[in-house]
Amino acid sequence: MTSDSNWKEKYLKALESSEERESLWGTEKHQLQRMLVRTSLAAEGQNPELDRMLARLRSELRHEAPDSVGWHRLQDQIDRQLSALDEQKADSARRIRTTLEQLLSTLRGHGLFADSKGRIRELEKRLRKPETLQLHFTAWLTDLAGVLENGLTGTGEPAGKTGMFGKLFGARESDTCPPKASSGSEPLSSGPEEAALDQVEAEESTQRLRIARRVGELLGHMLGQVSLEPVSEARARRLQESLLNSNDWDELREGLSGVAELVIAAVTRSQREFEAFLRRLDERLESLRQCFSDQSAAQAGRLDASQALDREIRDELQSFGEQVESSSDFGQLKASVGQHIESISGAVERFRTQESEREKNLSRQLELMHEKLAAVEAHSEQVKDELAEERRKALRDVLTQLPNREAWQERLAFEYQRWQRYRHPLTVGVLDIDYFKRVNDSYGHKAGDRVLQLVAKALSDRLRTTDFIARFGGEEFVVLMPETPSETARSVLDGMREHIAALPFHFRGEPVSVTFSAGVAEFAEGDDEDEAFDRADRALYLAKDAGRDRVFVSGSKPAEG
Ligand code: GH3
Ligand code: MG
Ligand code: MG
Repeated sequence: MTSDSNWKEKYLKALESSEERESLWGTEKHQLQRMLVRTSLAAEGQNPELDRMLARLRSELRHEAPDSVGWHRLQDQIDRQLSALDEQKADSARRIRTTLEQLLSTLRGHGLFADSKGRIRELEKRLRKPETLQLHFTAWLTDLAGVLENGLTGTGEPAGKTGMFGKLFGARESDTCPPKASSGSEPLSSGPEEAALDQVEAEESTQRLRIARRVGELLGHMLGQVSLEPVSEARARRLQESLLNSNDWDELREGLSGVAELVIAAVTRSQREFEAFLRRLDERLESLRQCFSDQSAAQAGRLDASQALDREIRDELQSFGEQVESSSDFGQLKASVGQHIESISGAVERFRTQESEREKNLSRQLELMHEKLAAVEAHSEQVKDELAEERRKALRDVLTQLPNREAWQERLAFEYQRWQRYRHPLTVGVLDIDYFKRVNDSYGHKAGDRVLQLVAKALSDRLRTTDFIARFGGEEFVVLMPETPSETARSVLDGMREHIAALPFHFRGEPVSVTFSAGVAEFAEGDDEDEAFDRADRALYLAKDAGRDRVFVSGSKPAEG
Protein backbone atom coordinates (compact mmCIF):
# COMPACT_ATOMS: atom_id res chain seq x y z
CA MET A 1 0.00 0.00 0.00
CA THR A 2 1.59 3.31 -1.03
CA SER A 3 -0.19 5.52 1.50
CA ASP A 4 0.87 3.14 4.30
CA SER A 5 4.58 3.36 3.38
CA ASN A 6 4.15 7.13 3.01
CA TRP A 7 3.12 7.89 6.58
CA LYS A 8 5.68 5.40 7.93
CA GLU A 9 8.36 7.27 6.06
CA LYS A 10 7.16 10.55 7.51
CA TYR A 11 7.16 9.11 11.00
CA LEU A 12 10.71 7.75 10.61
CA LYS A 13 11.89 11.11 9.26
CA ALA A 14 10.40 12.85 12.26
CA LEU A 15 12.23 10.48 14.60
CA GLU A 16 15.46 10.86 12.69
CA SER A 17 15.45 14.63 12.84
CA SER A 18 14.72 14.40 16.55
CA GLU A 19 17.93 12.32 16.92
CA GLU A 20 19.87 14.84 14.87
CA ARG A 21 18.71 17.46 17.29
CA GLU A 22 19.91 15.38 20.22
CA SER A 23 23.42 15.50 18.80
CA LEU A 24 23.09 19.18 17.90
CA TRP A 25 22.17 19.89 21.50
CA GLY A 26 25.27 17.96 22.51
CA THR A 27 27.45 20.37 20.48
CA GLU A 28 25.77 23.40 22.01
CA LYS A 29 26.34 22.05 25.49
CA HIS A 30 29.96 21.50 24.62
CA GLN A 31 30.26 25.08 23.43
CA LEU A 32 28.68 26.38 26.58
CA GLN A 33 31.19 24.44 28.66
CA ARG A 34 34.05 25.85 26.64
CA MET A 35 32.73 29.35 27.07
CA LEU A 36 32.44 28.90 30.80
CA VAL A 37 36.00 27.64 30.94
CA ARG A 38 37.11 30.75 29.06
CA THR A 39 35.11 33.07 31.30
CA SER A 40 36.71 31.54 34.34
CA LEU A 41 40.16 31.98 32.79
CA ALA A 42 39.43 35.62 32.09
CA ALA A 43 38.33 36.21 35.67
CA GLU A 44 41.62 34.89 37.01
CA GLY A 45 44.24 36.89 38.81
CA GLN A 46 41.98 38.84 41.19
CA ASN A 47 42.87 36.83 44.24
CA PRO A 48 44.51 33.44 44.90
CA GLU A 49 41.47 31.89 46.61
CA LEU A 50 39.27 32.78 43.69
CA ASP A 51 41.87 31.43 41.26
CA ARG A 52 41.90 28.06 43.06
CA MET A 53 38.13 27.93 42.84
CA LEU A 54 38.12 28.78 39.16
CA ALA A 55 40.71 26.10 38.46
CA ARG A 56 38.48 23.57 40.22
CA LEU A 57 35.51 24.77 38.22
CA ARG A 58 37.40 24.30 34.97
CA SER A 59 38.56 20.86 35.87
CA GLU A 60 35.01 19.83 36.75
CA LEU A 61 33.80 21.22 33.47
CA ARG A 62 36.41 19.31 31.53
CA HIS A 63 35.80 16.00 33.21
CA GLU A 64 32.05 15.97 33.52
CA ALA A 65 29.36 16.96 31.11
CA PRO A 66 26.93 18.86 33.34
CA ASP A 67 23.20 18.34 32.83
CA SER A 68 20.64 20.86 33.97
CA VAL A 69 21.46 20.01 37.63
CA GLY A 70 25.08 20.60 36.73
CA TRP A 71 24.21 24.00 35.27
CA HIS A 72 22.57 24.96 38.54
CA ARG A 73 25.67 23.99 40.44
CA LEU A 74 27.71 26.18 38.06
CA GLN A 75 25.35 29.06 38.66
CA ASP A 76 26.00 28.70 42.37
CA GLN A 77 29.69 28.81 41.74
CA ILE A 78 29.37 31.96 39.67
CA ASP A 79 27.41 33.52 42.53
CA ARG A 80 30.22 32.62 44.87
CA GLN A 81 32.73 34.22 42.52
CA LEU A 82 30.78 37.41 42.76
CA SER A 83 30.69 37.38 46.50
CA ALA A 84 34.45 36.80 46.59
CA LEU A 85 34.86 39.92 44.44
CA ASP A 86 32.63 41.75 46.88
CA GLU A 87 34.94 40.74 49.68
CA GLN A 88 37.89 42.00 47.75
CA LYS A 89 36.15 45.33 47.41
CA ALA A 90 35.50 45.40 51.15
CA ASP A 91 39.15 44.65 51.76
CA SER A 92 40.26 47.53 49.60
CA ALA A 93 37.81 49.78 51.47
CA ARG A 94 39.37 48.61 54.74
CA ARG A 95 42.82 49.52 53.49
CA ILE A 96 41.72 52.95 52.32
CA ARG A 97 40.11 53.47 55.73
CA THR A 98 43.27 52.51 57.64
CA THR A 99 45.43 54.83 55.56
CA LEU A 100 43.04 57.71 56.06
CA GLU A 101 42.81 57.00 59.78
CA GLN A 102 46.58 57.18 60.03
CA LEU A 103 46.59 60.45 58.12
CA LEU A 104 43.92 61.93 60.42
CA SER A 105 45.73 60.84 63.55
CA THR A 106 48.94 62.49 62.25
CA LEU A 107 47.02 65.68 61.51
CA ARG A 108 45.36 65.62 64.94
CA GLY A 109 48.74 65.54 66.67
CA HIS A 110 50.13 68.41 64.61
CA GLY A 111 50.27 72.01 65.82
CA LEU A 112 49.19 73.36 62.44
CA PHE A 113 45.84 71.68 62.82
CA ALA A 114 45.26 72.62 66.45
CA ASP A 115 42.26 74.73 65.42
CA SER A 116 40.74 71.93 63.38
CA LYS A 117 40.78 69.20 66.04
CA GLY A 118 36.99 69.17 66.27
CA ARG A 119 36.61 68.85 62.51
CA ILE A 120 39.24 66.12 62.38
CA ARG A 121 37.46 64.15 65.10
CA GLU A 122 34.24 64.53 63.19
CA LEU A 123 35.95 63.25 60.01
CA GLU A 124 37.26 60.25 61.98
CA LYS A 125 33.79 59.50 63.26
CA ARG A 126 32.29 59.66 59.77
CA LEU A 127 35.09 57.50 58.40
CA ARG A 128 34.11 54.73 60.80
CA LYS A 129 30.63 54.55 59.27
CA PRO A 130 30.56 52.04 56.40
CA GLU A 131 28.35 54.20 54.21
CA THR A 132 30.94 57.02 54.14
CA LEU A 133 33.30 55.08 51.87
CA GLN A 134 30.48 53.61 49.84
CA LEU A 135 28.20 56.57 49.31
CA HIS A 136 29.60 59.80 50.67
CA PHE A 137 33.30 59.46 49.95
CA THR A 138 33.56 62.51 47.71
CA ALA A 139 31.86 64.71 50.29
CA TRP A 140 34.16 63.30 52.95
CA LEU A 141 37.26 63.98 50.84
CA THR A 142 36.08 67.49 50.14
CA ASP A 143 35.78 68.13 53.88
CA LEU A 144 39.24 66.66 54.43
CA ALA A 145 40.58 68.99 51.75
CA GLY A 146 38.91 71.86 53.62
CA VAL A 147 40.69 70.91 56.85
CA LEU A 148 44.01 70.57 55.03
CA GLU A 149 43.59 73.90 53.32
CA ASN A 150 42.66 75.57 56.58
CA GLY A 151 45.74 74.20 58.31
CA LEU A 152 48.12 74.80 55.44
CA THR A 153 47.12 78.11 53.95
CA GLY A 154 46.77 79.19 57.39
CA THR A 155 43.90 81.01 58.95
CA GLY A 156 45.04 79.40 62.19
CA GLU A 157 48.78 79.50 61.75
CA PRO A 158 50.22 79.75 65.30
CA ALA A 159 52.31 82.87 65.79
CA GLY A 160 56.02 82.57 66.34
CA LYS A 161 56.14 78.91 65.27
CA THR A 162 58.28 79.34 62.22
CA GLY A 163 59.32 76.16 60.47
CA MET A 164 56.03 74.32 61.14
CA PHE A 165 55.40 73.89 57.46
CA GLY A 166 58.91 72.74 57.02
CA LYS A 167 58.39 70.03 59.66
CA LEU A 168 55.13 68.98 58.12
CA PHE A 169 56.73 68.44 54.78
CA GLY A 170 59.77 66.74 56.21
CA ALA A 171 62.38 69.46 55.79
CA ARG A 172 64.90 69.78 58.58
CA GLU A 173 65.00 73.02 60.47
CA SER A 174 68.47 72.70 61.86
CA ASP A 175 69.73 71.86 58.48
CA THR A 176 68.02 73.94 55.85
CA CYS A 177 69.85 76.80 54.29
CA PRO A 178 69.41 79.91 56.42
CA PRO A 179 66.73 82.22 55.06
CA LYS A 180 69.15 84.45 53.30
CA ALA A 181 68.38 87.40 51.11
CA SER A 182 69.25 85.49 48.00
CA SER A 183 69.12 88.52 45.75
CA GLY A 184 71.88 90.04 47.85
CA SER A 185 70.06 93.35 48.22
CA GLU A 186 69.50 95.01 51.59
CA PRO A 187 65.94 95.54 52.85
CA LEU A 188 64.76 99.07 52.08
CA SER A 189 63.69 99.89 55.64
CA SER A 190 64.70 102.74 57.88
CA GLY A 191 63.87 101.92 61.52
CA PRO A 192 64.80 98.76 63.44
CA GLU A 193 61.10 97.80 64.02
CA GLU A 194 60.33 97.98 60.32
CA ALA A 195 63.44 95.99 59.67
CA ALA A 196 62.21 93.32 62.10
CA LEU A 197 58.80 93.28 60.43
CA ASP A 198 60.40 92.99 57.02
CA GLN A 199 62.49 90.15 58.36
CA VAL A 200 59.37 88.29 59.59
CA GLU A 201 57.65 88.87 56.25
CA ALA A 202 60.68 87.75 54.33
CA GLU A 203 60.88 84.59 56.42
CA GLU A 204 57.21 83.88 55.91
CA SER A 205 57.43 84.28 52.20
CA THR A 206 60.57 82.10 52.01
CA GLN A 207 58.64 79.45 53.88
CA ARG A 208 55.67 79.73 51.60
CA LEU A 209 57.89 79.43 48.58
CA ARG A 210 59.52 76.35 50.06
CA ILE A 211 56.14 74.75 50.64
CA ALA A 212 54.99 75.55 47.15
CA ARG A 213 58.18 74.07 45.64
CA ARG A 214 57.78 71.02 47.79
CA VAL A 215 54.17 70.58 46.73
CA GLY A 216 55.31 71.07 43.14
CA GLU A 217 57.73 68.16 43.57
CA LEU A 218 55.13 66.03 45.30
CA LEU A 219 52.74 66.77 42.47
CA GLY A 220 55.40 65.62 40.03
CA HIS A 221 55.68 62.31 41.91
CA MET A 222 51.93 62.00 42.16
CA LEU A 223 51.53 62.42 38.42
CA GLY A 224 53.58 59.31 37.96
CA GLN A 225 51.49 57.34 40.42
CA VAL A 226 47.93 58.08 39.46
CA SER A 227 46.29 58.08 36.08
CA LEU A 228 44.55 61.30 35.19
CA GLU A 229 42.49 62.18 32.17
CA PRO A 230 44.61 64.02 29.58
CA VAL A 231 42.97 67.37 30.38
CA SER A 232 43.68 67.01 34.11
CA GLU A 233 47.17 65.77 33.36
CA ALA A 234 47.89 68.90 31.33
CA ARG A 235 46.42 71.04 34.09
CA ALA A 236 48.55 69.27 36.68
CA ARG A 237 51.69 69.86 34.59
CA ARG A 238 50.84 73.57 34.40
CA LEU A 239 50.25 73.71 38.16
CA GLN A 240 53.52 71.94 38.80
CA GLU A 241 55.33 74.37 36.52
CA SER A 242 53.95 77.37 38.39
CA LEU A 243 54.55 75.81 41.81
CA LEU A 244 58.17 75.14 40.92
CA ASN A 245 58.90 78.46 39.30
CA SER A 246 56.52 81.20 40.34
CA ASN A 247 57.30 83.64 43.15
CA ASP A 248 53.88 85.21 43.22
CA TRP A 249 52.08 84.05 46.34
CA ASP A 250 48.57 84.46 44.89
CA GLU A 251 49.45 82.30 41.94
CA LEU A 252 51.05 79.75 44.27
CA ARG A 253 47.97 79.65 46.49
CA GLU A 254 45.78 79.02 43.46
CA GLY A 255 48.18 76.29 42.48
CA LEU A 256 47.91 74.66 45.92
CA SER A 257 44.15 74.52 45.90
CA GLY A 258 44.26 73.25 42.32
CA VAL A 259 46.41 70.38 43.57
CA ALA A 260 43.85 69.51 46.25
CA GLU A 261 41.12 69.39 43.60
CA LEU A 262 43.22 67.18 41.35
CA VAL A 263 43.96 64.73 44.15
CA ILE A 264 40.29 64.44 44.98
CA ALA A 265 39.46 64.00 41.30
CA ALA A 266 42.05 61.24 40.91
CA VAL A 267 40.98 59.34 44.02
CA THR A 268 37.28 59.48 43.25
CA ARG A 269 37.87 58.58 39.63
CA SER A 270 39.75 55.37 40.37
CA GLN A 271 37.21 54.43 43.04
CA ARG A 272 34.39 55.03 40.55
CA GLU A 273 36.11 53.05 37.83
CA PHE A 274 36.61 50.05 40.06
CA GLU A 275 33.02 50.11 41.21
CA ALA A 276 31.77 50.47 37.66
CA PHE A 277 33.90 47.51 36.61
CA LEU A 278 32.42 45.33 39.35
CA ARG A 279 28.94 46.43 38.41
CA ARG A 280 29.50 45.61 34.76
CA LEU A 281 31.00 42.25 35.61
CA ASP A 282 28.08 41.54 37.87
CA GLU A 283 25.59 42.40 35.13
CA ARG A 284 27.37 40.31 32.54
CA LEU A 285 27.63 37.29 34.76
CA GLU A 286 23.95 37.68 35.59
CA SER A 287 23.00 37.66 31.90
CA LEU A 288 25.21 34.63 31.28
CA ARG A 289 23.48 32.88 34.14
CA GLN A 290 20.15 33.84 32.58
CA CYS A 291 21.24 32.36 29.26
CA PHE A 292 22.18 29.10 30.96
CA SER A 293 18.80 28.72 32.57
CA ASP A 294 17.04 29.63 29.30
CA GLN A 295 19.02 26.88 27.61
CA SER A 296 17.97 24.37 30.24
CA ALA A 297 14.34 25.45 29.89
CA ALA A 298 14.56 25.13 26.09
CA GLN A 299 15.96 21.64 26.41
CA ALA A 300 13.13 20.65 28.73
CA GLY A 301 10.58 22.19 26.30
CA ARG A 302 12.02 20.25 23.36
CA LEU A 303 11.77 16.95 25.23
CA ASP A 304 8.14 17.72 26.08
CA ALA A 305 7.39 18.51 22.44
CA SER A 306 8.88 15.32 21.04
CA GLN A 307 7.10 13.26 23.70
CA ALA A 308 3.84 14.96 22.74
CA LEU A 309 4.44 14.13 19.07
CA ASP A 310 5.14 10.52 19.99
CA ARG A 311 1.94 10.35 22.00
CA GLU A 312 -0.14 11.95 19.27
CA ILE A 313 1.11 9.53 16.62
CA ARG A 314 0.63 6.53 18.92
CA ASP A 315 -2.95 7.58 19.70
CA GLU A 316 -3.72 8.09 16.03
CA LEU A 317 -2.30 4.66 15.14
CA GLN A 318 -4.22 3.02 17.92
CA SER A 319 -7.56 4.53 16.93
CA PHE A 320 -6.77 3.72 13.28
CA GLY A 321 -6.14 0.04 14.26
CA GLU A 322 -9.39 -0.07 16.19
CA GLN A 323 -11.31 1.31 13.27
CA VAL A 324 -9.70 -1.16 10.85
CA GLU A 325 -10.83 -4.00 13.10
CA SER A 326 -14.37 -2.73 13.61
CA SER A 327 -15.02 -1.48 10.08
CA SER A 328 -16.60 -3.59 7.39
CA ASP A 329 -17.27 -0.88 4.80
CA PHE A 330 -14.29 -0.37 2.47
CA GLY A 331 -15.27 3.18 1.48
CA GLN A 332 -15.56 4.24 5.14
CA LEU A 333 -12.23 2.57 5.87
CA LYS A 334 -10.55 4.46 3.05
CA ALA A 335 -11.92 7.79 4.32
CA SER A 336 -10.77 6.97 7.82
CA VAL A 337 -7.23 6.11 6.63
CA GLY A 338 -7.03 9.39 4.74
CA GLN A 339 -8.16 11.33 7.82
CA HIS A 340 -5.65 9.64 10.13
CA ILE A 341 -2.78 10.22 7.76
CA GLU A 342 -3.76 13.87 7.60
CA SER A 343 -3.81 14.15 11.42
CA ILE A 344 -0.44 12.50 11.72
CA SER A 345 1.23 14.65 9.09
CA GLY A 346 -0.40 17.70 10.72
CA ALA A 347 1.18 16.73 14.05
CA VAL A 348 4.59 16.20 12.45
CA GLU A 349 4.30 19.54 10.65
CA ARG A 350 3.45 21.34 13.89
CA PHE A 351 6.35 19.64 15.59
CA ARG A 352 8.69 20.73 12.79
CA THR A 353 7.59 24.36 12.97
CA GLN A 354 7.94 24.44 16.74
CA GLU A 355 11.35 22.84 16.49
CA SER A 356 12.68 25.27 13.93
CA GLU A 357 11.36 28.17 16.04
CA ARG A 358 13.10 26.74 19.07
CA GLU A 359 16.26 26.24 17.10
CA LYS A 360 16.26 29.82 15.91
CA ASN A 361 15.86 30.97 19.49
CA LEU A 362 18.70 28.79 20.62
CA SER A 363 21.09 30.07 18.01
CA ARG A 364 20.08 33.66 18.77
CA GLN A 365 20.83 33.05 22.43
CA LEU A 366 24.08 31.40 21.59
CA GLU A 367 25.14 34.33 19.47
CA LEU A 368 24.21 36.70 22.25
CA MET A 369 26.25 34.70 24.69
CA HIS A 370 29.23 34.77 22.37
CA GLU A 371 29.06 38.54 22.20
CA LYS A 372 28.66 38.97 25.93
CA LEU A 373 31.44 36.59 26.66
CA ALA A 374 33.81 38.32 24.27
CA ALA A 375 33.01 41.62 26.00
CA VAL A 376 33.65 40.12 29.43
CA GLU A 377 36.90 38.61 28.25
CA ALA A 378 38.17 41.80 26.68
CA HIS A 379 37.21 43.91 29.66
CA SER A 380 38.63 41.57 32.29
CA GLU A 381 41.87 41.39 30.36
CA GLN A 382 42.09 45.17 30.21
CA VAL A 383 41.28 45.63 33.91
CA LYS A 384 43.82 42.96 34.84
CA ASP A 385 46.51 44.81 32.88
CA GLU A 386 45.45 48.12 34.37
CA LEU A 387 45.59 46.74 37.92
CA ALA A 388 49.05 45.28 37.34
CA GLU A 389 50.22 48.55 35.84
CA GLU A 390 48.76 50.57 38.74
CA ARG A 391 50.54 48.35 41.24
CA ARG A 392 53.82 48.65 39.36
CA LYS A 393 53.44 52.42 39.27
CA ALA A 394 52.46 52.59 42.91
CA LEU A 395 55.75 51.03 43.98
CA ARG A 396 58.14 52.83 41.64
CA ASP A 397 59.52 56.33 41.67
CA VAL A 398 58.91 57.91 38.28
CA LEU A 399 61.91 60.14 38.11
CA THR A 400 64.63 57.63 39.06
CA GLN A 401 62.79 54.37 38.37
CA LEU A 402 63.96 53.16 41.77
CA PRO A 403 61.49 51.60 44.21
CA ASN A 404 59.73 54.35 46.14
CA ARG A 405 59.00 54.89 49.80
CA GLU A 406 55.94 52.63 49.70
CA ALA A 407 58.05 49.80 48.30
CA TRP A 408 60.69 50.52 50.94
CA GLN A 409 58.14 50.06 53.73
CA GLU A 410 57.08 46.71 52.26
CA ARG A 411 60.61 45.44 51.90
CA LEU A 412 61.66 46.74 55.33
CA ALA A 413 58.75 44.90 56.95
CA PHE A 414 59.77 41.71 55.14
CA GLU A 415 63.48 41.90 56.02
CA TYR A 416 62.66 42.89 59.60
CA GLN A 417 60.56 39.72 59.99
CA ARG A 418 63.42 37.63 58.65
CA TRP A 419 65.88 39.38 60.95
CA GLN A 420 63.65 38.67 63.94
CA ARG A 421 63.52 35.00 63.06
CA TYR A 422 67.15 34.29 62.03
CA ARG A 423 69.05 37.16 63.67
CA HIS A 424 71.51 37.48 60.83
CA PRO A 425 72.95 41.00 60.61
CA LEU A 426 70.75 43.54 58.82
CA THR A 427 71.88 47.10 58.15
CA VAL A 428 70.14 50.28 57.02
CA GLY A 429 71.85 53.18 55.26
CA VAL A 430 70.38 56.65 54.71
CA LEU A 431 72.02 58.77 51.97
CA ASP A 432 71.45 62.44 51.25
CA ILE A 433 73.01 64.44 48.44
CA ASP A 434 75.06 67.36 49.71
CA TYR A 435 74.06 70.90 48.90
CA PHE A 436 71.60 69.68 46.33
CA LYS A 437 69.61 72.85 46.55
CA ARG A 438 72.57 74.66 45.04
CA VAL A 439 72.41 72.46 41.95
CA ASN A 440 68.75 73.40 41.50
CA ASP A 441 69.36 77.05 42.25
CA SER A 442 72.36 77.38 39.97
CA TYR A 443 71.43 75.15 37.05
CA GLY A 444 67.67 74.69 37.31
CA HIS A 445 65.33 71.89 38.33
CA LYS A 446 65.87 69.91 35.14
CA ALA A 447 69.57 69.65 35.83
CA GLY A 448 68.70 68.64 39.42
CA ASP A 449 66.41 65.93 38.13
CA ARG A 450 69.09 64.62 35.82
CA VAL A 451 71.57 64.44 38.71
CA LEU A 452 69.04 62.44 40.73
CA GLN A 453 68.60 60.00 37.86
CA LEU A 454 72.33 59.51 37.33
CA VAL A 455 73.06 59.13 41.04
CA ALA A 456 70.19 56.65 41.43
CA LYS A 457 71.53 54.56 38.57
CA ALA A 458 75.11 54.66 39.83
CA LEU A 459 73.96 53.62 43.31
CA SER A 460 71.76 50.75 42.22
CA ASP A 461 74.37 49.47 39.74
CA ARG A 462 76.85 49.08 42.56
CA LEU A 463 74.63 47.18 44.99
CA ARG A 464 74.34 43.41 45.33
CA THR A 465 71.09 41.91 44.11
CA THR A 466 70.11 40.96 47.64
CA ASP A 467 70.50 44.59 48.73
CA PHE A 468 67.60 46.95 48.28
CA ILE A 469 67.68 50.63 47.41
CA ALA A 470 64.80 53.08 47.28
CA ARG A 471 64.28 56.78 46.77
CA PHE A 472 63.02 57.86 50.14
CA GLY A 473 62.06 61.34 48.95
CA GLY A 474 63.69 64.43 47.45
CA GLU A 475 67.43 63.83 47.23
CA GLU A 476 67.41 61.16 49.91
CA PHE A 477 67.95 57.44 49.30
CA VAL A 478 67.77 54.43 51.63
CA VAL A 479 69.49 51.08 51.35
CA LEU A 480 68.74 47.85 53.16
CA MET A 481 71.57 45.31 53.34
CA PRO A 482 70.73 41.84 54.60
CA GLU A 483 73.52 39.60 55.89
CA THR A 484 75.70 42.69 56.29
CA PRO A 485 77.15 44.07 59.54
CA SER A 486 77.34 47.86 59.84
CA GLU A 487 81.10 48.08 59.27
CA THR A 488 80.87 46.21 55.97
CA ALA A 489 77.91 48.37 54.96
CA ARG A 490 79.94 51.45 55.79
CA SER A 491 82.77 50.45 53.52
CA VAL A 492 80.34 49.56 50.70
CA LEU A 493 78.69 52.99 51.02
CA ASP A 494 82.06 54.65 51.26
CA GLY A 495 83.02 53.03 47.97
CA MET A 496 79.84 54.39 46.46
CA ARG A 497 80.53 57.80 47.87
CA GLU A 498 83.97 57.89 46.23
CA HIS A 499 82.52 56.62 42.98
CA ILE A 500 79.79 59.28 42.88
CA ALA A 501 82.20 62.06 43.89
CA ALA A 502 84.39 61.09 40.95
CA LEU A 503 81.55 61.12 38.39
CA PRO A 504 82.17 63.83 35.77
CA PHE A 505 79.03 65.99 35.99
CA HIS A 506 79.00 68.93 33.61
CA PHE A 507 76.58 71.82 33.71
CA ARG A 508 76.75 74.54 31.10
CA GLY A 509 80.22 73.34 30.31
CA GLU A 510 81.47 73.59 33.92
CA PRO A 511 82.56 70.46 35.78
CA VAL A 512 80.57 70.10 39.00
CA SER A 513 81.18 67.52 41.67
CA VAL A 514 78.24 65.90 43.41
CA THR A 515 78.73 64.22 46.77
CA PHE A 516 76.54 62.61 49.34
CA SER A 517 76.65 62.00 53.07
CA ALA A 518 75.32 58.86 54.69
CA GLY A 519 74.42 57.36 58.06
CA VAL A 520 74.52 53.62 58.72
CA ALA A 521 72.93 51.56 61.50
CA GLU A 522 72.58 47.84 62.14
CA PHE A 523 69.47 46.33 63.69
CA ALA A 524 70.07 45.49 67.36
CA GLU A 525 68.28 43.51 70.07
CA GLY A 526 64.97 45.12 71.04
CA ASP A 527 64.70 47.29 67.90
CA ASP A 528 61.34 47.82 66.34
CA GLU A 529 61.00 48.15 62.58
CA ASP A 530 61.91 51.86 62.43
CA GLU A 531 64.65 52.17 65.01
CA ALA A 532 67.63 51.28 62.85
CA PHE A 533 66.45 53.84 60.28
CA ASP A 534 66.17 56.51 62.98
CA ARG A 535 69.70 55.80 64.19
CA ALA A 536 71.05 55.85 60.63
CA ASP A 537 69.26 59.16 60.07
CA ARG A 538 70.89 60.64 63.19
CA ALA A 539 74.28 59.40 62.02
CA LEU A 540 73.58 61.14 58.68
CA TYR A 541 73.08 64.44 60.54
CA LEU A 542 76.37 63.99 62.32
CA ALA A 543 78.03 63.32 58.95
CA LYS A 544 76.49 66.55 57.58
CA ASP A 545 77.57 68.51 60.65
CA ALA A 546 81.07 67.15 60.36
CA GLY A 547 81.41 68.70 56.89
CA ARG A 548 79.47 66.35 54.52
CA ASP A 549 80.86 63.95 51.90
CA ARG A 550 81.31 61.17 54.47
CA VAL A 551 79.69 58.06 55.92
CA PHE A 552 79.08 57.68 59.65
CA VAL A 553 78.10 54.53 61.49
CA SER A 554 75.63 55.00 64.32
CA GLY A 555 77.07 54.49 67.76
CA SER A 556 80.65 53.90 66.69
CA LYS A 557 83.50 56.34 66.52
CA PRO A 558 83.00 58.51 63.41
CA ALA A 559 85.13 57.28 60.54
CA GLU A 560 85.76 60.11 58.15
CA GLY A 561 85.55 59.84 54.40
P1 GH3 B 1 72.30 69.30 52.58
O1 GH3 B 1 73.69 69.08 52.19
O2 GH3 B 1 72.18 69.83 53.95
O3 GH3 B 1 71.49 68.08 52.39
O4 GH3 B 1 71.74 70.41 51.63
P2 GH3 B 1 70.66 70.29 50.52
O5 GH3 B 1 70.66 71.54 49.73
O6 GH3 B 1 70.84 69.05 49.76
O7 GH3 B 1 69.35 70.10 51.37
P3 GH3 B 1 67.93 70.79 51.37
O8 GH3 B 1 67.04 69.89 52.13
O9 GH3 B 1 68.01 72.20 51.83
O10 GH3 B 1 67.48 70.83 49.87
C1 GH3 B 1 67.11 69.71 49.20
C2 GH3 B 1 66.71 70.18 47.83
O11 GH3 B 1 66.34 69.07 47.01
C3 GH3 B 1 65.53 71.11 47.86
C4 GH3 B 1 64.57 70.57 46.81
O12 GH3 B 1 64.13 71.58 45.97
C5 GH3 B 1 65.43 69.57 46.06
N1 GH3 B 1 64.65 68.49 45.52
C6 GH3 B 1 63.93 67.58 46.19
N2 GH3 B 1 63.32 66.73 45.33
C7 GH3 B 1 63.67 67.12 44.08
C8 GH3 B 1 63.37 66.66 42.76
O13 GH3 B 1 62.63 65.68 42.54
N3 GH3 B 1 63.92 67.30 41.72
C9 GH3 B 1 64.74 68.36 41.91
N4 GH3 B 1 65.28 68.96 40.86
N5 GH3 B 1 65.04 68.86 43.13
C10 GH3 B 1 64.52 68.24 44.20
MG1 MG C 1 67.57 66.11 52.20
MG1 MG D 1 70.73 67.22 50.75
